[in-house]
Amino acid sequence: MKIEHKINRLRISCPTPFDAEKILLQPDKHQMLFRAFEEHITYCPKCFRIVRKLHKFYEILDEEMQKEASPKIVAFAETVYAEKEKHH
Ligand SMILES: [Zn+2]
Repeated sequence: MKIEHKINRLRISCPTPFDAEKILLQPDKHQMLFRAFEEHITYCPKCFRIVRKLHKFYEILDEEMQKEASPKIVAFAETVYAEKEKHH
């Protein structure tokens, strides 16, 4: 596919860690960016480290979520939720 080929060769500048997280969390929503970012981390060690860090974080979070209602996680989630509510 011509378009895909073009995207694969697209060079993007470093996204902020926040944007990187957004792209990684919703690859379907940011398909073009995701592809470009995937390509980007093959030559950008800085972003590669960010991705690895995020990956590790979500891996841990995922493991924790698998466990049957860890009281610590539930308490943490409730705190986060309460914080969000405050700001609205
Ligand atoms: Zn970068």
